This record gives sequence, structure tokens and C-alpha cells, in this order.
Amino acid sequence: MDAANVKAEHTDCCIAGGGPAGLMLGYLLARAGVNVIVLEKHLDFLRDFRGDTIHPSTLTVLDDIGLLEAFLALPHQEVRELTGDVYGHSVTIADFTHLPAPRPFMVLIPQWDFLDFIAAQPRRLPKFSLRVGAKALGVIEVDGAVVGVNVQTTEGGFAIHADLVIAADGRHTTLRESAGLASQDLGAPIDVLWFRIPRAASDPAQTGGYIRPGALLVMLNRDDYWQCAFVIPKGSLDALQAQGIAAFRERVCGIAPFLAAAAQTLTSWDDVKLLSVQISRMPRWYREGLLCIGDAAHAMSPVGGVGINLAIQDAVAAANLLADALREKRLHSGDLAAVQRRREWPARVTQRAQIAVQNEVLAPVLAGTAAPADLPLSLKLLQRLPLLRRLPARLVGIGVRPERIRTLPFPQP
Ligand SMILES: Cc1cc2nc3c(=O)[nH]c(=O)nc-3n(C[C@H](O)[C@H](O)[C@H](O)COP(=O)(O)OP(=O)(O)OC[C@H]3O[C@@H](n4cnc5c(N)ncnc54)[C@H](O)[C@@H]3O)c2cc1C
Repeated sequence: MDAANVKAEHTDCCIAGGGPAGLMLGYLLARAGVNVIVLEKHLDFLRDFRGDTIHPSTLTVLDDIGLLEAFLALPHQEVRELTGDVYGHSVTIADFTHLPAPRPFMVLIPQWDFLDFIAAQPRRLPKFSLRVGAKALGVIEVDGAVVGVNVQTTEGGFAIHADLVIAADGRHTTLRESAGLASQDLGAPIDVLWFRIPRAASDPAQTGGYIRPGALLVMLNRDDYWQCAFVIPKGSLDALQAQGIAAFRERVCGIAPFLAAAAQTLTSWDDVKLLSVQISRMPRWYREGLLCIGDAAHAMSPVGGVGINLAIQDAVAAANLLADALREKRLHSGDLAAVQRRREWPARVTQRAQIAVQNEVLAPVLAGTAAPADLPLSLKLLQRLPLLRRLPARLVGIGVRPERIRTLPFPQP
């Protein structure tokens, strides 16, 4: 960008990315008296493919900051048990009802509603500014330290100088790359096809997953339509497309026959989006003046629907560890290292579990041509011993090293 055309402003913390991690961190820092600018490259949050699950860990965070009741007043569904249809057997995998959380259930809500809700909270906080349609182009460096961000809007470019820049710009992060920080790809053998099918009043109500030989279909009930996620082996879309959309429709209806009439609305591959799945992790999440959190630091697979919740846990930990230092202008790299120390282990453990499920469960299911004679032992045990269902509920619903809000509201002018 031409430096002569660049206007600069200054803030305590500039966050690139208005996803779960960036918006929650922005809100918590502004609430704690830190001047924050959040940059979101899109004009709104109305994007389809960001996941719909808000887990008990996030409900606990919302309760800590007094937002839980208002959040639960939004239209949503409450899931107390995770169930699936595995080769025609109805299987319960997780039971959330015994979790030590103020609300022991999982909420299903379109992510744009969740993000709109979080973005609306800081409206009365003068230290918070959300800039939509503002794309972070790259970091500004002086003497080896990150001191700001170059930003592009439709009205032109400008620079924001900040004591701390946060890269919360997701798995295709621009800021991490521009700062020269490395990330390790841990591999994912799956991709997801994402499409809608109208929902009839006579359809079952429950959100759920269907496992069949060679196929896994997850269907989210969004009232008047099903949001469908069809899992495929990575790189296999071309072969599927070569068979034609009618063959794909037939496969989907073979799994969920009640879709037969409504699935006719899938008339071309334009109705089906490919969501590429990746799992990656940065060896080092920070350098002087810059910290990466959420998917920018550790891209999560959709397995377990935990990525949004982990991103929020990163935001809570970062606010807990950085707010005072930012407000009092005494931040140093050791504070950023403390955030990585706190959150790297939960990210590693969760990714390891996702990789195990991808390799040991999903890949064999997708490679299968016939239903096995019997359910796997782990699923049989979960059916025979309901107490065991509390373990997956704990891992998915709360995770390891859960965070609680420790920042206090700072008197606002
Ligand atoms: C197919 C699929 C399904 C998933 N389903 C679920 C699920 O059901 N539940 C769940 O918990 N997790 C799910 N996940 C994982 C989840 O989407 C992520 O882990 C989570 O969204 C990470 O949050 P984040 O805030 O770090 O990043 P993101 O949600 O990716 O947010 C990043 C934000 O930054 C913005 N941005 C990007 N670049 C720039 C830039 N240069 N300047 C300004 N803004 C920028 C983006 O527009 C976006 O709003 C799924 C993932 C995939 C791939």
C-alpha cells in the first residue's frame, strides 16, 4: 500500500477477524477497559458454513458475564443427548445432562445469530469499535516488532497502530502469513459437502447423523429447511460430480428416505458447497506485538463440533491474561507466551481426538461398501452402560482445561 495515502489511528488492541474468537475477545477486553478495534472483512455475519453448536463450556462463559438468559431467549434448540443412526441402529453417544455447567445441554443456533448477539453486546462500551467490510491486509513492523495492521475497505486503505495485534482471522489467516509465522498441517482425510433441503412438517424433528456403508450425513434442523453436511473422502468431489447431481440426490435419499420429495430441489452442483477440512497448529502462536488465537493458531476439524467453543475458550484465556497489562500499557511478549502455554494443551488434546475419530471411525466408514455384521464394541458399550455416555459428553461439551471469566467490568466513562 502506498504509505502516502495511508491515514493511521492508534488503539490498545486491534483484532483481525469477527468470528467467535475475535468478537468474544474484543467484547471482553473493552468490558475490561481496553480500547479495541475489531476488523471483519465481510459486511455481516450471514455466512452459512461456520457451524451451529454452542456447548455447555460457552454457556458457562455467557453465564459468567450475565448474558446467558438473553442468549437463550433467541430461537434455538437444546440437545441433551447426542444420538445417531448407525447402520440402522439408533445409538446414543453422549449424555450432557450430568455435566457440571449452569445449563447442561448443547444449543443449536445458526452461527450468524450467535455472532450478531455477541457483536451487539459492546454497543454501550465506548472503548469498542467493530469495523465491518474492513480487511486486514498484513502486519506493520518496526524494528522486528509488529506495531499495527494495514487495512483495506471499499473507501480506501488505512493503517491502525496498536500495542497488540490479534490474528483471529480463521484458518485461512492473512495476518499469520504476513507475519511470517509457521503452521504445521496435521492432515485431514475428509471434506464436507454443505447443502439445504426443505423440511416438511412430517419430517423427524431431531438434528442427527446417519452412518451408512460409504456415507456419513449430518442433518441440522433449521425449522423450514435441513442444513445437510455430507462427509466425503478428501479430494473425491470430482469423481462424485462426474456421476451427476441425480446420482448424488439418490445417495442422500437412500440414507434419509423421508427426503425423497424435497431433495428434488437439489438440481445442480451449484446448490452444493465444498467445505475443505483441515487440522493445523502453529508451533509458536506469537511474536512481539502479535498473538494468534482460534483457528488462526489451531484450525479445527468439524468432528465433535468443538471449534467455535475452543475459539471462545482462547478468547477468554487471552482476556484473562492480557487485559490488565494492555490497559496499564505494560504488555510484553511473556504475556503472549502465557496465553499459548494456557491454551496449547487443550488444542493439542482436542485435535488428537479429532484425528483419531477421523482416521479410526470416519475414514473406514467412508471406505466401507457393506454394513458390518455388528456395531463396534465402543458403541455397544455406550448402549449397555449409559454412565459411559458422560465421558464423551464431558470431552465435547466442556473439554479439557475449561476457562472462566476472570476480568472485571471496568468503569466506563
Ligand atoms: C465444515 C466445517 C464445519 C464446522 N462445524 C462446526 C460446528 O458445528 N461447531 C463448532 O464448534 N465448530 C465447527 N467447525 C469449526 C469452526 O468453524 C471453527 O473452529 C471456528 O469457527 C473458529 O473460530 P475463529 O473465530 O477462530 O475463526 P472463524 O470462525 O473462521 O472467524 C474468522 C473471521 O475472520 C474474518 N476474516 C478472515 N480474514 C480476515 C481479514 N484478512 N481481515 C478481516 N477479517 C477477516 C472471517 O470473515 C471470519 O469472520 C466447523 C469447521 C468446518 C470446516
